Amino acid sequence: MPKAVVRIPTPLRAFTDGAAEVAVDSTTVGGAIRSVCERHPGLRRHLLTPDGQLRNFVSVFVNEEDVRQREQTETPLRDGDLVSIVPAIAGGAPAGASGPRPGETSAPAEIPIVGDDLRRYSRHLLLPEVGLAGQRRLRGAKVLIVGTGGLGSPAALYLAAAGVGTLGLVDFDAVDLSNLQRQVLYATADVGRPKLAAAERRLTELNPGTRIVTHEERLEARNALEIVRRYDVVLDGTDNFPTRYLVNDACVLERKPNVYGSIYRFEGQVSVFDARRGPCYRCIYPEPPPPDLVPSCAEAGVLGVLPGLVGVLQATEAVKLLLGVGEPLVGRLLLYDALAMAFRELKIRKNPTCDLCSPSATQHGLIDYPAFCGVPAPGTVVPSGVPEITPEELRAALAAPEPPLLVDVREDEERAISALPGALPIPKAELTEHVDELTRARSIVVFCRAGSRSADATRTLLGLGFTNVRSLRGGINAWAERIDPTLPTY
Ligand SMILES: [Zn+2]
Repeated sequence: MPKAVVRIPTPLRAFTDGAAEVAVDSTTVGGAIRSVCERHPGLRRHLLTPDGQLRNFVSVFVNEEDVRQREQTETPLRDGDLVSIVPAIAGGAPAGASGPRPGETSAPAEIPIVGDDLRRYSRHLLLPEVGLAGQRRLRGAKVLIVGTGGLGSPAALYLAAAGVGTLGLVDFDAVDLSNLQRQVLYATADVGRPKLAAAERRLTELNPGTRIVTHEERLEARNALEIVRRYDVVLDGTDNFPTRYLVNDACVLERKPNVYGSIYRFEGQVSVFDARRGPCYRCIYPEPPPPDLVPSCAEAGVLGVLPGLVGVLQATEAVKLLLGVGEPLVGRLLLYDALAMAFRELKIRKNPTCDLCSPSATQHGLIDYPAFCGVPAPGTVVPSGVPEITPEELRAALAAPEPPLLVDVREDEERAISALPGALPIPKAELTEHVDELTRARSIVVFCRAGSRSADATRTLLGLGFTNVRSLRGGINAWAERIDPTLPTY
C-alpha cells in the first residue's frame, strides 16, 4: 500500500499530541484521513461529518493540488505523497463580467507628480515597472482596508508610503494596550482612543498626499456594497468569519479584487480572490467552521511580527494589482509558517458550482452573515443558554460552607497571567477526558477568560448528565474587574 504523509495544521495539532505529520498507508485520500482520525479520534469531528464525509470548511490537497478538483476523497495516493489539511482560519461576478480590470483604477491617471513628490517617490520612479506613469496610477488609486488591526496596520503604512492616493479604512474599535504588540499604526499614547482617528493622524504624518477616508462603523450587509463600490482594490484585514464572508461576497458582487490575509498563532495565509479570473473565498471554503471549533487570536494568541509579514504581503499584492505588474496570487494560496520559516503554495481553482461566483450561482446578494456563521449579531448580548453565575454570586458561594468546585477551562499560558486559587485546570478541549475528576463535586462553576468557552464547557457537562454546573459570566476578566482588582485582565 502506498505510504503517504498527512500534514496536520497547527490548530488541529492539539488532537495529535502535537504531531505535525502523521504517516499513513492508504490508497486514497479518504482512506488516509480516516486512518488519521482512527489514530487520533479527537480529530474526527473537525474533519469528517457524522456520516464520514469531508467537512466543507476543510480543504485537502495532495501535494499542491486541491482534491476537490480531482476525485475528491477517492483521489489516489502514491508513495511519498504529501496530504495537506488546510482549515479555514479567521485572521473575489461570474467570469467575463465587466468592471475595472486589475491595473485599471477608477480615477484619471493624469495626476501630475511634481516638486517634492519626485523626490519622495524617486525609488519608485527608478523602476521601469513603476515610473512616473505607475506613480500617477497609484495616486489615482483607491484601496479599502477592512480592519485596521494586525494586518491592516502594516498594509496601511506601506500603501500610504507607496503613494496610494486614497485609503479607505473600516474599523470601529478603540486602541487597546494588548493591540500594540502587533498593530504598528498605534502608539502607547493612543490607548483608549478611537483607532481610526489615530490611524488617520499617523498615516497623514507619513504621507500628507494620501487622502484617508474613515468608515467608522462595522462593515455589514446593509453598508458593504455601497462602501466597496467606491474602491479599486479591497484588502481584507478582518479577524472573524462573518466579516470575511461579507468582504468576499461584496467583492464578488461589485467585481473587485479581494486581497486576502489571515493569521493563526505562527501561521499565515495570503491569496488574491478575483472571481473574474479565479476562485473566490467561497470556492475554497463554501461554509465556515462552527464557532466552537475556531479559537480567535484573543484565545489562541498570535506572534506579533506574523501579521506584519502577512499584511505587507497583502500590500504588495494590492500595489501589483494597481500597477498591473507581476503575477498576482490569483488561484494560489500562499501558506507561511514562521516557526519553520517556510512558504508553501497551493493551487486553488474556481469551484464550477460555487454558490456565489459560478454560472449556476444561487446567491445574488448579501446575506445575514452572523446567522450564516452561527454567531450572535455583532453588538448584541445573547444569553449563553446555560446556567450562569455572576462574579458577585460566586464570591458569596465561595464563602459558604460548601463552596463549588472551580474548573478553569483556559490554557496553561493564560493561567500564568491570572488564576483563581483552588481551581482545577482542565483546558476545554480535554474536558471530556477528565470528566471522572468532576463526578464527586457537589456543584461546579466553570470559568474561562471572558465566558464563552466556559459556556461551551458547561453545555458539554450538562450533556454528560451533570446537573449542578454554572458558567462564570464574563469570565476571570469580569472577576478581576469587579471582585479582585489585583488580578490582571487580558
Ligand atoms: Zn466562488
